[in-house]
Amino acid sequence: MAKLIDGKAISAQIKAETALEVQELKDKGIIPGLAVVLVGNDPASQTYVNLKEKACAAAGIYSEKYALPANTHQDDLFDLVNRLNHKKEIHGILVQLPLPDGLDEESVIETIDPWKDVDAFHPSNVGRIMIGNYRFLPCTPAGIMEMLHREKISVAGKKCVVVGRSNIVGKPMAMLLLHDNGTVTICHSKTKDLEEICRCADVLVAAVGKPKFITADMVKPGACVVDVGMDRDENGKLCGDVDFEPVSRLASYITPVPGGVGPMTIAMLLRNTVTAAKIQNAIPDRQKVC
Ligand code: NAP
Repeated sequence: MAKLIDGKAISAQIKAETALEVQELKDKGIIPGLAVVLVGNDPASQTYVNLKEKACAAAGIYSEKYALPANTHQDDLFDLVNRLNHKKEIHGILVQLPLPDGLDEESVIETIDPWKDVDAFHPSNVGRIMIGNYRFLPCTPAGIMEMLHREKISVAGKKCVVVGRSNIVGKPMAMLLLHDNGTVTICHSKTKDLEEICRCADVLVAAVGKPKFITADMVKPGACVVDVGMDRDENGKLCGDVDFEPVSRLASYITPVPGGVGPMTIAMLLRNTVTAAKIQNAIPDRQKVC
């Protein structure tokens, strides 16, 4: 039976560590600040934004929420982001994705000051991750690496398979596993022999967005299985991309859904906000070195 990697417990540790760092900064007169921008009425996005706000408050991080209507004009969103770029109390800016139809996500992300880009989605930060010289790591993959580190699961020399190649999860996940010396394969919807590739994985990360997509016959006995998925099963119940019960019987480690990767994502956002506050106070004239 696989050992559960308890993302809730690990994220609680990280949040407690972050709260201490926030206090240390406050003692120096610095209050880390995060602005969260929500456009439209997507219920899942609203839930995520509320969770982020609550987590900020609990850690002592100042936060501002901007809720804009779905029909917001692109220029108005640019204006808001630009104002936040120049706002001293704000060290981190997060624009909740996905944006409603008609708004160009890429341009909006590119408008965010890379030093305030706590999601690490700006091309400048993505490039830095590629070369291993980063300011921030994207929250979900960073949270997964943190779970592996804290569970003392080494990926060095191991076969790591990431199913999914999105810019926010799959690609950066693969890069972080590579930085930790994993031998990484990325799979996607056009991959041939997906099952066979997954069966070779010592570390299998599922970021597909399809409920129970990874079945037991795709998992090598003893593999470490990380489930990024936040899906709904046939009864509308929250589940992951991994068929949890049968897979947990043969894996060595597994992350549950809920209570695995999800809580880690928020904890890493708090940590990135604190990092942003530290960097901006260490390098006030940061625009010059962007
Ligand atoms: P996404 O942008 O939709 O990407 C899904 C990826 O899965 C794509 O690369 C796609 O391949 C691949 N895929 C789809 N069908 C496939 C198939 N039949 N075989 C192989 N690959 C297939 O999703 P995402 O944003 O990366 O998110 C993935 C999941 O993680 C979702 O359930 C999301 O809700 C969840 N998530 C959770 C957190 C968290 O904090 N827990 C954070 C972010 C996302 P193509 O590129 O070829 O289309």
